[in-house]
Amino acid sequence: MIEPDSSVSPTISFEFFPPSTPKGWANLDRRITELEPLEPSFVSVTYGAGGSMRERTHDLVVRLLQETEIPAVPHLTCVGHTGAEIDGILDRYAMAGVETILALRGDAPRDGAGSERGEFEFAADLVRHIQRFNDRNGSSFRIGVAGFPEGHPDTPNTLEGMAHLKAKVDAGADWICTQLFFDNHAFLDWRDRCRLEGIDVPIIAGIMPISTRKSVVRMAGLAAGTVFPASLQRALGRASLDDEDAIAEVGLHWASEQCRDLLDHEVDGIHFYTLNKSDATLRIHRSLGVRTARSLRRANL
Ligand SMILES: Cc1cc2nc3c(=O)[nH]c(=O)nc-3n(C[C@H](O)[C@H](O)[C@H](O)COP(=O)(O)OP(=O)(O)OC[C@H]3O[C@@H](n4cnc5c(N)ncnc54)[C@H](O)[C@@H]3O)c2cc1C
Repeated sequence: MIEPDSSVSPTISFEFFPPSTPKGWANLDRRITELEPLEPSFVSVTYGAGGSMRERTHDLVVRLLQETEIPAVPHLTCVGHTGAEIDGILDRYAMAGVETILALRGDAPRDGAGSERGEFEFAADLVRHIQRFNDRNGSSFRIGVAGFPEGHPDTPNTLEGMAHLKAKVDAGADWICTQLFFDNHAFLDWRDRCRLEGIDVPIIAGIMPISTRKSVVRMAGLAAGTVFPASLQRALGRASLDDEDAIAEVGLHWASEQCRDLLDHEVDGIHFYTLNKSDATLRIHRSLGVRTARSLRRANL
């Protein structure tokens, strides 16, 4: 069982993206070698909405399955795809031995290119499609979906947002992985609201340590709506403008404290957005006293 399971949680997992250059692949190979001893519960591999990275996602997933002991979970976005295209992708993953898919909507390109071909409107449609695929083909893909503790930009009404998340779980999602966040109170309150709504599947917290000043701006854009708490901003502000090492230390300390607090609050899992780096993830594990994800899970049994 690779996905989070409340009875043996917490899981520790990592996100990678498929590189586009030989240098990027060589770097990722090195990072995987460094992170594998942590025995993560799984690693997930991102996908370009509309299929732009389809082959690279598939290649990285197959490589992880063949060359490591780590279960690989491909992300799959449905925007701009036809049902037949999705079936083709699922067929190949079934043959490769993939057990779990992270089912997402994705975001249509701003110019709307390709969207007229799409047969899916929301991630819940993809979850239903994968369930039908399972029924037709005798496969048994497990399904993860995305959650947004601080809301999703398309749905300012938080009650509606929660209902849409519930719809994904009712459609058959087995677990939820969140958008990155820096404010644990926001996550914990949202987790409580999920439980009040009757969402009882495991919820994995997405964590991304800040590494550079530029990355703060990029994250604020990518994870629109994510709050950067004043205390974090003050700590970043104390680092001098040209001292990127100090920024990375602040980011690392903040993320380590977030993880420690999440473990204290019995989080079902922590998913590290690694950006294909290993240093911050390794140092956070050390600061938490975690030698391997597996030992963490045993300790909780
Ligand atoms: C863990 C994680 C991994 C990700 N990986 C990738 C990736 O690999 N590639 C990529 O391109 N993107 C990725 N994303 C980004 C994601 O695709 C976008 O954030 C996208 O905008 C939302 O995807 P979703 O699956 O949550 O969509 P949905 O669940 O479909 O929700 C999208 C929006 O539609 C609203 N909505 C849902 N159902 C309805 C309905 N019936 N009526 C009206 N509104 C509705 C929701 O409230 C929400 O505002 C990831 C995000 C997360 C959190």
